[in-house]
Amino acid sequence: MKIIAITNQKGGVGKTTTCVNLAASLAEHGKKVLLVDLDPQGNASTGSGIDKAHLKGSIYQVLIGNNTLQEVILRAEAAKFDVAPSNRDLAGAEVELVNEMARETRLKNAILKLGDSYEYVLLDCPPSLNLVTVNALTAAHSVMIPMQCEYYALEGLSDLVNTIKKVRAHLNPVLEIEGLLRTMFDNRNMLAQQVSAQLVNHFGKKVYQTIIPRNVRLAEAPSYGMPVLLYDRASKGAQAYLELAQELIQKN
Ligand code: ATP
Ligand code: MG
Repeated sequence: MKIIAITNQKGGVGKTTTCVNLAASLAEHGKKVLLVDLDPQGNASTGSGIDKAHLKGSIYQVLIGNNTLQEVILRAEAAKFDVAPSNRDLAGAEVELVNEMARETRLKNAILKLGDSYEYVLLDCPPSLNLVTVNALTAAHSVMIPMQCEYYALEGLSDLVNTIKKVRAHLNPVLEIEGLLRTMFDNRNMLAQQVSAQLVNHFGKKVYQTIIPRNVRLAEAPSYGMPVLLYDRASKGAQAYLELAQELIQKN
């Protein structure tokens, strides 16, 4: 089982889009996949086709110890992967966990109890470096960092790399950077090309060869509760995420 945290404290860079579509693409390649939604917005849950009005429980209940992970998991039927859903309740977890024992390792322990049920567990992190994100970084084997190739992207990255170093030192010595993913890429944009080149210069092989293009189908699919693979399989976005899944499988 490989646990990957999809994270970037910067908002709107394509974390959730990557989580949902990578989960669907890995499932398409025959892998057993669990998506864990760790954002109170619950976008990964709805984007996977989960109806948030009819949950058995949520990841919040798991973190505070009321439910096991197994008890809250639902099937994203059409997309062929499992989801541990989230909703607004999770916004309160930070405060409630503050005085609890082992508050950073709650998610890790919950996932360990699943045994070998899944080949890939993808964690969709919120856009902040809060306790829930620390739980994700503590549970994960590696971190996938989606980013837009913009002017300030590299500065934001150094904050994240420092956080990863701290988690490695204190909570999770095996944590590594799985890869940096260029998202919403527009080839005609000169600045995007420059930042992309800098990124490869600096991080070398850690940058995925697969580039996710800006593609309107990727933005439309969540409103139908579908990964793009089900919404428009021929689209550039769907093909890019299938390719990313292939690249990930080959590396692991
Ligand atoms: P947050 O930090 O709020 O959790 P996020 O990092 O999860 O955001 P997304 O929600 O995946 O980012 O994407 C932000 C917006 O950009 C969404 O409206 C999404 O549909 C759109 N989007 C993401 N990737 C692409 C893409 N490659 N092409 C076009 N639109 C995209
Ligand atoms: Mg998100």
